[in-house]
Amino acid sequence: MASDRSWKDKYLQELESSEQREQLWKAERNSLERMLVRTCLASEGQTPELDRLLIRVRKDLRKGNLDLEKWRSLQEQIDRQVTLLDDDSPKARSGNGRFYQSRKTVDVPSDSEPSPTVTVGDENDLATIHAQRLRIARRVGQLLGQMIYQVTLEPAAEARARQLQKSLLESESWDVLREGLNSVADLVIAAITRSQREFEAFLKKLDERLVSLRQHFQNQSNAQEGRMDASRELDREIRRELETFGRKIDSFADFKELKLSVTMHLETIGGVVERFREQESEREKSYSQQLEVMQEKLAAVEANSEQMREQIREERARALTDLLTQLPNREAWQERLGFEYSRWQRYRQPVRIAVLDIDLFKRVNDSFGHKAGDRVLQMVARECQKRLRTTDFISRFGGEEFVLLLPETSAEDAKRVLDDLRGYIAALPFHFQGEPVTITFSAGVATLEDGDTEETLFDRADRALYAAKDAGRNQVRLAIEVEGVSAASGHQARQ
Ligand code: GH3
Ligand code: MG
Ligand code: MG
Repeated sequence: MASDRSWKDKYLQELESSEQREQLWKAERNSLERMLVRTCLASEGQTPELDRLLIRVRKDLRKGNLDLEKWRSLQEQIDRQVTLLDDDSPKARSGNGRFYQSRKTVDVPSDSEPSPTVTVGDENDLATIHAQRLRIARRVGQLLGQMIYQVTLEPAAEARARQLQKSLLESESWDVLREGLNSVADLVIAAITRSQREFEAFLKKLDERLVSLRQHFQNQSNAQEGRMDASRELDREIRRELETFGRKIDSFADFKELKLSVTMHLETIGGVVERFREQESEREKSYSQQLEVMQEKLAAVEANSEQMREQIREERARALTDLLTQLPNREAWQERLGFEYSRWQRYRQPVRIAVLDIDLFKRVNDSFGHKAGDRVLQMVARECQKRLRTTDFISRFGGEEFVLLLPETSAEDAKRVLDDLRGYIAALPFHFQGEPVTITFSAGVATLEDGDTEETLFDRADRALYAAKDAGRNQVRLAIEVEGVSAASGHQARQ
């Protein structure tokens, strides 16, 4: 992907500047901790219990062991001790002997080692105690001033800190100072916990975005299994980057800057993914367009070929149909005879054919004209077609001759069928120029026998036909009956 380089570079830059910011934050945090140590040291020497607690705070700080929960309870214990301290009047302390000889630190040159202590002589001296407290407050005020310059606080917190510093430095009232000292602790803890909370919230957000990103890729690869190599590669690459980044996160401490960095980083990734998705859907669109065009072309070709098939069917039907009578023509006859012949060779089912010829047809033409002759041919064809069984096949062989195919028919049945037909045609009431005209035909029937070809079969039927003509026309003869008679006489009878 072309944008690979740019987002990676940007990401690495982000990472680098985040590391710098982390250093800065560490320094800030360090000074906060130092301040706490000094505050602890400054506060020691009031009661043994309070000292014990303050030592624990300092120990934790030195070890870098910041368990906030533990610290909160520590703070509560310290608060209780400080309250007890405030409630006890110097007199009461003196009276019951509870007052503890304070060992007072004057200043803190180092943040890790306790300073040499100065023992304060008269514990009953109220003014001395007050002076000690004032010194502590002033010192905390100074440290607070340093802190304000060193750490980044929210504007509201900074204003509060300045207010606090002012009162710690100027106020003479112990109540105000005590309140101020409590606030300092709150402020420090707030500064630390704020970062912690933000980091938690940020991590949660990061986690959500990673989940949705992963979900997106899951969906993508589910939907487009197979041809989504590019998508998987992108997924892998981004995941790898995020994992590296995740490892870096563990070492980050400045959550605010980190948040900024990661958010920007994720947005860049989001952009890359979005672009990738757009390209994918663009590709998808162009594929489906191509597919549509191809389908249209295919449909056109199909329609065209269907049309051509239809044309061929029609042409073929035309080629096999006699124009005048609409009966199958001589070609159709040859085709059908060929089919029946090969079927007969295999199954030996009886196959009979008849050749019909209209008697003295020339006379019809001569007497009433060629058109009248045509009408006779049409009429005879239609009537024959009508009266034959559907399994029978009739065709116009040529001129005024017709041929019939009579499958599964005995010789007797064939003769009877043809005689019936002949009688029927003979009875048709033709009228030409007001004259009743009788039309008859003669026919010869032959049966397919061993050794026959299509031609020899036809020849026998033809010979039988001429035997019928010879015998006076308007009759049906079976080849088997006439074969004994001279075939030559049949041929001679043809005029
Ligand atoms: P026969 O009884 O011996 O068959 O006598 P015929 O007159 O029918 O025989 P011939 O073969 O001498 O005459 C056949 C006539 O049929 C000749 C021809 O003019 C006529 N013919 C053939 N085809 C057509 C046609 O399509 N229309 C018309 N009107 N006449 C036709
Ligand atoms: Mg003829
Ligand atoms: Mg004839």
